[in-house]
Amino acid sequence: MKLLYPFAKRFIAGPDLETALFAIRKIVQSGYFASIDILGENVSSRLQAQNATNEYLQLFTTLNELNHPFDISVKLSQLGLDLDQDICQKNLELLVNSSGPHTIRIDMEDSFHTQSTLEVCAAVHQNHPKLGQAIQAYLFRSEKDILRCIDEGISVRLCKGAYNEPSHIAIQSMDEVRKRYLKLVYPLLKDGHQTAIATHDENLLVEILKFIESEKIHSDSFYFEMLYGVRRDLQKILQRKGFRVRIYVPYGKAWLPYTLRRLSEKKENLYFVITHLFRETLGLQKLH
Ligand SMILES: Cc1cc2nc3c(=O)[nH]c(=O)nc-3n(C[C@H](O)[C@H](O)[C@H](O)COP(=O)(O)OP(=O)(O)OC[C@H]3O[C@@H](n4cnc5c(N)ncnc54)[C@H](O)[C@@H]3O)c2cc1C
Repeated sequence: MKLLYPFAKRFIAGPDLETALFAIRKIVQSGYFASIDILGENVSSRLQAQNATNEYLQLFTTLNELNHPFDISVKLSQLGLDLDQDICQKNLELLVNSSGPHTIRIDMEDSFHTQSTLEVCAAVHQNHPKLGQAIQAYLFRSEKDILRCIDEGISVRLCKGAYNEPSHIAIQSMDEVRKRYLKLVYPLLKDGHQTAIATHDENLLVEILKFIESEKIHSDSFYFEMLYGVRRDLQKILQRKGFRVRIYVPYGKAWLPYTLRRLSEKKENLYFVITHLFRETLGLQKLH
């Protein structure tokens, strides 16, 4: 799988914090906000969950030197959700208690984790009102989850959803996912709490900009959020229009699952990887 690392580099800011800091500083200097994510998921021992928690604590210490507030993204399966929900909750509580000026936002993983993720979020949010949660538009259940988040004051990052889910759990047609995204994002923009609009889909962005204008939604009540290495042109355009744009910056050694999700999101990515690997492995380069 090392062969895939050159492709991973487009989507991740580096294998360690020291390298990632170059990208993070550049993002901040360019006037963007940043969500920092330490790659990792589905840990299989308490020690691994503890190590992941410690790595986040170390990140906070380093960020203090930058004197700038960041969003911090975390996956609960990285903090031990699959081992024991209580341990995971304690690890998350330790992180929010230590996060200082930063805001922690929980990524949403596959549907096996949806209910338990929302339960842990709701429990920890009671004492930590800044804690935020990603919600996936493709899940049938998300409409109810979003209304509950609005009611409870939980800040939502709305994305389409990146996992392969069966048809009784998630919408399968991309057109329908788009329609559902708009249906969910409008109430979030009107009544939500620092909503993050996490998409690079221009069709959606055009509709959302129209809604923001017609409803006079104030630009400091939400963020646009995009992934590191994806559609920098749109990031710039939205920033130029005066909106707050946040870049989701992942780093770390566990880059493979994240990279595979990104590669599979666009046919051209997979095609590029496959032809490139073929050329390299079979010695079919045009230059010799
Ligand atoms: C900030 C942020 C946080 C996210 N957090 C989560 C999460 O917690 N849980 C979860 O399940 N999903 C998450 N996602 C992923 C999301 O669910 C989608 O899988 C992903 O964003 C692609 O959907 P899209 O809305 O950008 O639309 P698409 O229709 O997939 O993409 C629109 C356009 O963006 C560009 N693009 C999009 N993805 C790629 C790519 N990988 N490579 C190259 N170009 C690309 C292409 O130009 C494409 O035409 C997150 C996405 C963002 C932006």
